[in-house]
Amino acid sequence: MTLTEKDSQYLWHPYTQHKTAQTPIAITRGEGALLWDENNKQYIDAIASWWVNPFGHSNKFIADKIYKQLTTLEHVLFGGFTHEPAIQVAEKLMKLLPENQQKIFFSDNGSTSVEVAIKVALQFFYNKGEKRTTIIAFEDAFHGDTFAAMAASGISFYTQAFQGMFIDVVRIPVPIKGKEQLSFDTLRRVISENNCAGFIFEPLVQGAAGMVMYEPETLDELIKICRENNVLTIADEVMTGFGKTGKTFAMDYCAEIPDMMCLSKALTGGTIPMAITTFTQEIFEAFYDEDINKALFHGHTFTANPTGCAAALASFELLQTPEMQANLVRINQKHLDFQEYIKKHPKVTTTRVLGTIFALEIKKENEETYYGTMRTKLYNFFIENGVILRPVGNIVYILPPYIISDEQLDKIYEVVEKALEIV
Ligand SMILES: *Cc1c(COP(=O)(O)O)cnc(C)c1O
Repeated sequence: MTLTEKDSQYLWHPYTQHKTAQTPIAITRGEGALLWDENNKQYIDAIASWWVNPFGHSNKFIADKIYKQLTTLEHVLFGGFTHEPAIQVAEKLMKLLPENQQKIFFSDNGSTSVEVAIKVALQFFYNKGEKRTTIIAFEDAFHGDTFAAMAASGISFYTQAFQGMFIDVVRIPVPIKGKEQLSFDTLRRVISENNCAGFIFEPLVQGAAGMVMYEPETLDELIKICRENNVLTIADEVMTGFGKTGKTFAMDYCAEIPDMMCLSKALTGGTIPMAITTFTQEIFEAFYDEDINKALFHGHTFTANPTGCAAALASFELLQTPEMQANLVRINQKHLDFQEYIKKHPKVTTTRVLGTIFALEIKKENEETYYGTMRTKLYNFFIENGVILRPVGNIVYILPPYIISDEQLDKIYEVVEKALEIV
């Protein structure tokens, strides 16, 4: 039996309707921006395997650090114990984060980092004896698949089976160009009409919505409105974190700073599942009390796993090398050049670039859903041509590992341009 045949016997894949889905491709190895399947066919990983892998597959530098940690201390429980890798991650991260971020909390994935932030926002007010139980989020937001994260997410596709079972969330429009004032006004209105504890947002780029972008000045204004009304702000940088937008964090483009941040995806260079939620000292102090009931009763068994911490430390180191920083600039320039060229194509309606993120929207005849026919056609075309891209409906985006070569990028652009002819 091939790997693919065995897979269909045993495995249940994410976001997959197994009755109609195509069989998955069995990948056997990876190196740099490339992956190979069981038939030795080569693919360029143009989306860094769901945005987690900035430094290339099977990265030896990170692997060595992981091995060293595994053979020193692979894991120890974090309740009542601590260890140097966790402390180092905190020290290093604090140098990178906005200066008001003073405490970090570990978990395992993006959804749990959001779950923690939302629970902290709700309990912050509970501990102060204030009734604030509503969370504000953008339309079309994506914050993950656990319950509070799902509640905050606006894409009904993922959440429709669970409607009516969520915490209270009110939505405001995404402040894309022309919608800024509507977004500000709606935010002011929902704050005045509800007991809002927190506002969670994907800063500058809504990833899962199809790399929808808005301006830093606009986000500054939204954060200011929240601060004036004592509503906590949560920057979900699970996707945007660690260089994707050209700066370490998307929030680095803003003048305002958030109360909390959520990090995961590229945190460990795509090696070990790990996430971090970060907080201001003020938030921490709302939980700091003689009364045990005011503590944050949340934790995961693998919290602050030392091996994950070692991988994160190695990733921070790689990200800050001059070569990697130069890669961010190089990819951005290549994207801008391609944008200049492709935006004139009659089938392209919109293009967007921020840092290493490129997106274009293809003209559509009918309403295209997330997993619609155009999407399937495009996806298959890319795979046939040895490029891994996962369009969102009629939106094609590129978010490559930072170590991708110019030639590999050119190949991706070429395949994207060719794909416009088949839809
Ligand atoms: C991917 C993502 C999440 C969820 O992370 P998981 O690790 O898949 O649980 C949350 N927020 C944003 C912005 C994301 O892109």
